[in-house]
Amino acid sequence: MDILKILSRGTKKTNTASTSATATGDLPSSGAKVNPQLYNDSVRGQKRKRQANQTDDKVEDELPEVNFFPAPDATSAREQESAKKPQRAASPPRKPTKRLPEDECRQIFRSHRLKLTILSKDQELKKPKKSSKKKQKKAVAEEDTKNDSKAQLFPQPLESFADLRNTYGISRRVAENLIAQGYRVPTEVQLGCLPLLLRPELALPDTDGLDNGINFLAVAPTGSGKTVSFLIPAINKIMRRRALEKSEGSRELEAIIVAPTRELSHQIVNEGLKLLQGTGIKIVGMKKTTNISVEQQEIAEDSSDEGSDDEDEESADEGKPKRTQKVRPATQTDILVTTPRLLINFLTSGPSGTQRVLPGVRDLILDEADVLLDPLFREHTLSIWTACTNTDLRVSLWSATMGSNIETMINEKLEGRAEALGLPVKPLLRLVVGLKDTAVPNIIHKLVYTASEQGKLLALRQLLHPSRADDSGPPLRPPFLVFTQTIDRATALHEELKYDIPLEAGGPSRIAALHSGLAESARAAIMRKFRAGDIWVLITTDVLARGVDFAGVNGVVNYDVPGSSAVYVHRAGRTGRAGRQGGIAVTFYTKEDIPFVKTVANVIAVSEKQAGKTGDEATVQKWLLDALPNVGKADRKKLRERGVESRRSGSKAKITSKSGYERRKENNRRGAIEGSKRRKQAEADGSGDEDGDEWGGIDD
Ligand code: ADP
Ligand code: MG
Repeated sequence: MDILKILSRGTKKTNTASTSATATGDLPSSGAKVNPQLYNDSVRGQKRKRQANQTDDKVEDELPEVNFFPAPDATSAREQESAKKPQRAASPPRKPTKRLPEDECRQIFRSHRLKLTILSKDQELKKPKKSSKKKQKKAVAEEDTKNDSKAQLFPQPLESFADLRNTYGISRRVAENLIAQGYRVPTEVQLGCLPLLLRPELALPDTDGLDNGINFLAVAPTGSGKTVSFLIPAINKIMRRRALEKSEGSRELEAIIVAPTRELSHQIVNEGLKLLQGTGIKIVGMKKTTNISVEQQEIAEDSSDEGSDDEDEESADEGKPKRTQKVRPATQTDILVTTPRLLINFLTSGPSGTQRVLPGVRDLILDEADVLLDPLFREHTLSIWTACTNTDLRVSLWSATMGSNIETMINEKLEGRAEALGLPVKPLLRLVVGLKDTAVPNIIHKLVYTASEQGKLLALRQLLHPSRADDSGPPLRPPFLVFTQTIDRATALHEELKYDIPLEAGGPSRIAALHSGLAESARAAIMRKFRAGDIWVLITTDVLARGVDFAGVNGVVNYDVPGSSAVYVHRAGRTGRAGRQGGIAVTFYTKEDIPFVKTVANVIAVSEKQAGKTGDEATVQKWLLDALPNVGKADRKKLRERGVESRRSGSKAKITSKSGYERRKENNRRGAIEGSKRRKQAEADGSGDEDGDEWGGIDD
């Protein structure tokens, strides 16, 4: 069997389905969806299939108007919503608490494909005996899949945002700020976790063992509104404590949000600012120069190790009186958003022989938690966790992907910490939305075999010039992201493609490269321009693979294959945010990549199955899965850690073409003056260098 022939056949196969799906004109860049939910199987047992929007078949070839990142349109969302339901006032008076019977909670959880289980080893939580217990037990047993027999819990769901105030008592101001965002319907993760995090005793009233609070792990799709899900409970906790203690004036750092990149941290700060308007609560992004209020403790000589040695470290300190001294507080804030290294640099910069701890922190939020607990960041993340010494600490962890090894590590850390502090372990509850580790069901996937590196350039140019596209499916309209394996390749591809956009359309300024090799100010400037729609094609590395929310990104190109299935899920998840339709994820692969493609194909196959795409509609057909070689464990590990070896250095690592050089010359001839003016501008924009780089992680 000639695998290359088979694979080439595969690249042509996908088009009918994809064309009809994108011909909708309903692209991510065309605005927000009224209902951002991904799953709502209204009748139990009904075939779960998302309805692709009905459309005509016309595909426009021209570049779209520049309106790439429309703000959520509060007015039109409200109008459409009010057509269906009676309209709610902006700040309704609080109504009495309502409770749904457990059967209804179960029904809602099931129809939204939500699964809440207790992950702690010794499952302490007990449900009270009820007359219908037998029946319930039987139903649960029937529904449980073979490989996940853990008992499920069905807490009160958040049916509407109004319940946040009515039932769970969040502040009027925060409720109004949320409405001002134009959100109308809670997403699945919000529906499943907000009651539980705001008032566990109300959300799960018949469950024992929640009195001391819970720890929480959410595995929910990319773009499903996890940020709001962790911000609102954190804000609410601070406000309630302040109100109870009547400590209006004093500010104490109470919540820390850790995210792997500074782009994501900035984004979280911005989301926080929107929710916090007029509340008096402060959120701040950590900078190198930020000084926060901490306690300084003397440490024993041998306790510098972190991670699995945490218990030993704590016991080494045991018995020694801890002398503490206050460090002068500089930045007064309630919530701090930081990358692991920025905070660790601060925590370890006290006088030698001391460690800085954060006794006031009651909420530790790890966004993109699986990567924060991956070897790259693990040590720093665990050190931050250890530094949060408050006995009331609640840890919550969020991601679209979560390996079982990470879950085990979380449990071990929770147990170790509780033991060291002499506390009972708070139960760890896990909410999974849909299937773990899958890409969102509302995007179109394409696997494109390009044979060689040169083939990738050609294929990308075809995407860039949709009018020239042959039968290779729907055009990928700007704005889109292009992911490469290394910083060098991102830079080289940028050089190569700089002149591909005609001067009349903005020329080289429409394309940029962003990676951790750039200074912070340059990165921030590129992010701003991409969000503003000034940059149409952003070439990047995995530094932008996680968390960043460009609502109107129409597509993602994996110029180089992703290093793992999780990376695929996250890269692809930069499009199709908040339920938007029509986003495309294209993955190029060459002969060298064939040993690794099955990982990606598997993710696509599962996502398509979830979306109800079968037969010819599916990108990944069974024959393709059968034809692709399996990826061995060792190869998977190598790919995850190092990427495709031949792309790291040597001639294969280079991205260049003679035609590119020729076209550059041609371009210069045509628009010498304007071209050089724009080039200078682009170079000036990318050349700030006042700051070093605190994070060079995922990039390579
Ligand atoms: P995640 O962290 O799950 O990847 P984000 O928190 O970044 O997702 O949210 C993705 C997008 O969805 C953001 O633009 C956010 O403003 C929007 N969003 C969040 N909640 C809702 C909602 N209930 N309705 C509509 N849009 C929402
Ligand atoms: Mg996020």
